[in-house]
Amino acid sequence: RIVLGIESSCDETAVALVASDRTIRAQRIASQHAEHAPYGGVVPEIAARAHAERLAPMLEAVMDEAGVSLADCDVIAATAGPGLIGGVMVGLVTAKALAMASDTPLMAINHLEGHALSPRLADPELEFPYLLLLVSGGHCQILLVEGVGRYRRLATTIDDALGEAFDKTAKILGLGYPGGPAVEKLAQSGDPRAVPLPRPLAGSSEPHFSFAGLKSAVLRAKESGAHGDADIAASFQQAAVDCLTDRLSHALKRIGSVPNLVVAGGVAANRTIRTALERLASDHAMGFTAPPMALCTDNAAMIAWAGCERLRLGQFDPLDVSARPRWPLDPDAAPVRGAGV
Ligand code: ATP
Ligand code: MG
Ligand code: FE
Repeated sequence: RIVLGIESSCDETAVALVASDRTIRAQRIASQHAEHAPYGGVVPEIAARAHAERLAPMLEAVMDEAGVSLADCDVIAATAGPGLIGGVMVGLVTAKALAMASDTPLMAINHLEGHALSPRLADPELEFPYLLLLVSGGHCQILLVEGVGRYRRLATTIDDALGEAFDKTAKILGLGYPGGPAVEKLAQSGDPRAVPLPRPLAGSSEPHFSFAGLKSAVLRAKESGAHGDADIAASFQQAAVDCLTDRLSHALKRIGSVPNLVVAGGVAANRTIRTALERLASDHAMGFTAPPMALCTDNAAMIAWAGCERLRLGQFDPLDVSARPRWPLDPDAAPVRGAGV
């Protein structure tokens, strides 16, 4: 069985063909970083237009490379949210047209479900349930993943996502967009103990994350002129690591033991964070899984894979399914002051 996946929720246009035996038959990712760089962030109109221009040739390239036609696909799966609505609609409408033309079932995939299940694409041994740290450009959540479609949110951020904090730190240090990889690189030559920075909510009895205060402290450290940029980057990264491990320890205390700790989302590409989480897992006698770097940041293989997972359960969507700018993975989660989804 083979699933065609389409991703267009932010600034990556991506197409992939993934088989239910976990082979990625072909994939393409076109990043729009160059288009958005002059603005220091993603411009929704530019993103939507770029997706519209690139999607058709990318679909053709992926089908050609895999030697697969639309008629061979069992499902067409597209991100239907959450994300920038213009871009999401370009991908979803394209998927609907392909589904209609080829009489193939459609699946409207939650982008966060793509991230949440991506570790299982790379690791066939990873079983449910697992404790997931989902850290990306728009989200910072701890979820108990009990099965496909069964996500229990244990914590979220009350202000900024961690990827956002990385991007803002990069901006403050003049490193450009997207900031995560640049901050990580600069941090390698800095001292993580050099700059005193806060660990917001660490030790708190509530479960959530907060990164806005950390970002402001980075700005003050830079403006003080007392510290080198590499030391600021390294100290910021260390503060982020300390917040993540503190909040995960808190979650583990609450829910007791889970066999595996898993990290996913763009920030999961960070090596210092991966190493710290691996240590935390081993301290708690848990297994640890992180997807390969290329599956952490946005891609369509994770969307096609979520389609493969749902195909086993026979979960399809009607052709009039709507795009959703906001779409929480756990609709039952209690609302949190200041939090997005
Ligand atoms: P969401 O998935 O929440 O909708 P998104 O799709 O924009 O948001 P992703 O593509 O999953 O986010 O992740 C992008 C984010 O990951 C950016 O904020 C980027 O700075 C961050 N990131 C990427 N690589 C690294 C890294 N090596 N270290 C830290 N952060 C990183
Ligand atoms: Mg992106
Ligand atoms: Fe993402």
